Amino acid sequence: MQEIFYTLATPKEYFHQSRKFPFPKPQKCLQPDCLISIPPKKHGFYSRNAIEPDFLERIDIRRYHCEYCGKTISYLPCFCLPYIQYTLKTVFFGLVCHFSLEFSLSVCLKLFRAVSQDIYWTYQHLQFYAKRFILNLKRIYIVLRQLLPGIILPEPTEKGAQRVLYLVLTGFADIQAFSARFFEQGGRSFLAPCK
Ligand SMILES: [Zn+2]
Repeated sequence: MQEIFYTLATPKEYFHQSRKFPFPKPQKCLQPDCLISIPPKKHGFYSRNAIEPDFLERIDIRRYHCEYCGKTISYLPCFCLPYIQYTLKTVFFGLVCHFSLEFSLSVCLKLFRAVSQDIYWTYQHLQFYAKRFILNLKRIYIVLRQLLPGIILPEPTEKGAQRVLYLVLTGFADIQAFSARFFEQGGRSFLAPCK
């Protein structure tokens, strides 16, 4: 399983600290069907891409292993999203351009190319993240209502996406804080695949 942990470290700082980074240490197994109170043991690292403007590296992800249930737990820094190689900030920038600023996908792509040559996004990339965000809106609403009681939300369409992004920008320290809290509350990322 993957956990997202909050850190103020930027991708560059995390990358430079490499395996000396102060990774979180679970005190018990986090697998929902295990939860044994024996700290899982360090179990090496795996590497994954983290891509954003001016940063294109493979970073190490700390892994633990529970000897009781035999499963592993890996700790993803909050600037990453599971199974998405672009950093959270990069994907968020795309969502804000498209939904909040209401730029068309082709204008968003032009902006991306102007900001960085490291981001080789195509129309399909941006469309994929925008669609994924819309498909997750109902789930995002449930978690947001727990985190920000009393909020009013429109139908989960493009207007809803706009409203959610506004709440993220105004109600949380940054997108990483939102993403980490969302994961903690909902057990999945806010851009997880929808069934
Ligand atoms: Zn376990």
